[in-house]
Amino acid sequence: MRNVTVLSGGMGGARFLRGLLHGISTSTVPGLTKDTHVTVIGNTADDTWLHGLKICPDLDTVMYTLGGGIDDERGWGRRAETWSVKEELAAYGVEPTWFGLGDRDVATHLVRTQMLEAGYPLSVVTEALCRRWNPGVTLLPMTDDRVETHVAVTDPDSPSGRRVVHFQEYWVRMRAEVPAEAVLTVGLDSSTPAPGVVEAITGADLVVLPPSNPVVSVGTILGVPGVREALSSTTAKVVGLSPIVAGSHVRGMANQLLTATGVEVSAAGVGLHYGARSSGGVLDGWLVDTADADAVPALQGAGIAAAAVPLMMTDETATAAMVSAAIELVSA
Ligand code: GDP
Ligand code: CA
Repeated sequence: MRNVTVLSGGMGGARFLRGLLHGISTSTVPGLTKDTHVTVIGNTADDTWLHGLKICPDLDTVMYTLGGGIDDERGWGRRAETWSVKEELAAYGVEPTWFGLGDRDVATHLVRTQMLEAGYPLSVVTEALCRRWNPGVTLLPMTDDRVETHVAVTDPDSPSGRRVVHFQEYWVRMRAEVPAEAVLTVGLDSSTPAPGVVEAITGADLVVLPPSNPVVSVGTILGVPGVREALSSTTAKVVGLSPIVAGSHVRGMANQLLTATGVEVSAAGVGLHYGARSSGGVLDGWLVDTADADAVPALQGAGIAAAAVPLMMTDETATAAMVSAAIELVSA
């Protein structure tokens, strides 16, 4: 296969991509050769503006992870990070103080913001940032338009009993501990795919939905008008890997947001939510973890090829084995 396209969020997607590139470079994934090219369509609905800076957490997580700049322990932000800017802002009493804005990381946001203000679209800015990091993939934002996920949360102090916060506030400040009532993706319906996004899907030999958040990562990418159409018309197989293992997200907040969206928190629930391409959905195949082997018949019954294999991304070798299983599933 020459071209593989992955629809990615931040940490789950980046970890998966690291394993995919490992499999390619070590020729350990049948079907993928050393010249296989990977294009990543990155979620931008987590993006926010803070202290005058445009922050793109998922694009940066992919870029830093694949470019060797990530703090591996945290899974986000720069390694060997210091926090003087954050401390100085707090000393001025400037809100928000809960967002982790590291000194090294700030340089990325400064470059990005300056370029955006000079009139470059996010896709061009991302390409420029990647020239430093050489992530080994083509990284495309899903859209150049401003799209932001907001979460409606229960708030007994508000007259309406609820309050709407930016996704980052829900996740970082509230730690997703407050019940979520609804997820609203502001600007999504009127957004257009960034240059290259549709072509990356229609021209791919394989499209992968990695174990990324089905609501606020893959869900928002699928919501960009034109992306679903590209997935239904591509000649490539579309295969996904469940981010839900044994009825729960491995790390993150998918449980809360799936519940708010009315999707069952299970490997089968997410696969059926994406649906079979043969009946208007996006999947040809769906891998579930061995703990969820009993989900396979229901998925197959819905027209989705399914199999159960270990899906914990413990290291690059284990993740590359997941890629092999995904390809095998849709190559039969
Ligand atoms: P985020 O943008 O940083 O939240 O990252 P993503 O959206 O790309 O991925 C987050 C999701 O990845 C989580 O909600 C988990 O469900 C899933 N995840 C994380 N680690 C693993 C793993 O080792 N195996 C599987 N199957 N899923 C994982
Ligand atoms: Ca994210």
